[in-house]
Amino acid sequence: MWHAVDACLKCTLCVSQCPVLSVNPEFPGPKALGPEWFRRAQAGTDQAMPHVDDCTFCQLCELACPVDVPVAHLIAEHKFRVPRRPLRLRLRDGMLARPHVVSRIPGWAVSPGSLRRLGRIAQKTPLPVRRREVVSSLKSSHRERSRGHVGLFADCYSAGYDPGLIQKASELLRIWGYDVIPLPQRSGCCGAAAYAAGQPALARQMGRSIWVDLNAATDLEAIVTLNATCDGTLRDEWPRFFGMRLNTPVVPFDELAGEAPNEFWEALQTAAPTNASWIAHTTCRGKVARGDGHLVTLFRRAGFNVQPSDTACCGAGGSYAFKAEHEDTAQRLSDQLRQQADSERPIGIITDSGTCAIHIEHATRVVTRHPAHWLYEQWLRCQKEVPNS
Ligand code: SF4
Ligand code: SF4
Repeated sequence: MWHAVDACLKCTLCVSQCPVLSVNPEFPGPKALGPEWFRRAQAGTDQAMPHVDDCTFCQLCELACPVDVPVAHLIAEHKFRVPRRPLRLRLRDGMLARPHVVSRIPGWAVSPGSLRRLGRIAQKTPLPVRRREVVSSLKSSHRERSRGHVGLFADCYSAGYDPGLIQKASELLRIWGYDVIPLPQRSGCCGAAAYAAGQPALARQMGRSIWVDLNAATDLEAIVTLNATCDGTLRDEWPRFFGMRLNTPVVPFDELAGEAPNEFWEALQTAAPTNASWIAHTTCRGKVARGDGHLVTLFRRAGFNVQPSDTACCGAGGSYAFKAEHEDTAQRLSDQLRQQADSERPIGIITDSGTCAIHIEHATRVVTRHPAHWLYEQWLRCQKEVPNS
C-alpha cells in the first residue's frame, strides 16, 4: 500500500479539504505530514514534525487524493514516531485507544476537574456516560418474509455506553424480517480508536481478535454495523492495511434500512410531524466510505423534514476531542454545525457515531442520536397513533 506514496502529484487537493487546516493555520497539513514526511522517513530522516498529533484522522484528505495516496494512514504512522511522550500522556492515550476497557471504569465520566487536568483530559467536551433506557418490543402488522440471519456488530462504544441503541436496531431489523445474531461474541474493539491515535500495530492486534470472532460466524446474510467509523474500519481498513478480509459482507445499518418493507416507510410517513425539522450529519468516515447524502435520503423517505449538515468534520475524531490539547480545535471544528443549528432550530440531529453525537450535542444543545434511534422512536409513535400497525 505504501508504494502509492510515490504517486503523489503535489496537487494539494488534500490540503484544500483538510478541516483542521481551516481552523488551525499552524497545522502543517496532509501533504507535509503524509507523503512528504514519509519520503524523508524512507531516506532515514524521519523526525516527527510538530502538530502531527493535531490530525483528527478524518481521512477527508484521502478522499480528495486523485491518485489514492493513503495520506491519513501515513500520518498515523508519523504520529507513532513522535518521541516518547510523558508518562501521564502515555497512560491517557493507552486508555483512550481502548474504549472497550474505559467504558468499564466506574465514575470515569464524572472524574473531578483536578484529575482531568492531571491526566490531560479535556474539560470542555463531556466524556461519554452510559445511557439507561428501557427498550420495548416493536409490533408490526405486516408479515414480512424471512430475510435470513444477520449479525449485528455491537461496536465497543455502543455496547459500553448505548446498549439501548443495539436493542432498538435489533427490534427494527426483526420487524424488517431478519433474525439477529449479536456479534462479536467477546468484548473488544475493532482498533479504530487506536489507529486514529497513531497506534497502527495496536489497532491491528485489537482488530485481529474481533476479525477471528466475526469470521467464525457462518450462514449470515450480512454483518450490520451501527457506527460509521467501525464500518469503515471493517470494510476498508482491515483488508487494505492489515490483509484481514471478512467472509461475510459488511453492510451499514442505514443501507440495510433502505431495503425495509414499503409498509414500514409508508407508515412512518403518515406519522411524520410536519412542523419539526432535523439535521443529518454524515460523519467524515461515513463520507469517505459512502459519500454524503445517504442519511438525508433515508429520512426524507420516512417523511422527515431533514437538511444536510454543512460541516465536513465535527471535531470529535474518535477520542480526539477528549484530549486537552485538542479541545479548542475540536470546538472550532463544530462551530459551523452549531451556527447551522442556531439558525435552523432542529428538534434533533441524526448521526451514526456515538462520539460525534456527544460532541455535536454538546456544541449545539440539540438531541443528537443514531438513525436507528430516530427510526425506532418514529415507529413507536406510529404504533400509538395507529394501534393495529
Ligand atoms: S486526516 Fe483529516 S485532519 Fe488529518 S490531515 Fe487528513 S484531512 Fe486533515
Ligand atoms: S491529494 Fe494526493 S497527490 Fe495531491 S498532494 Fe495530496 S497526497 Fe499528493
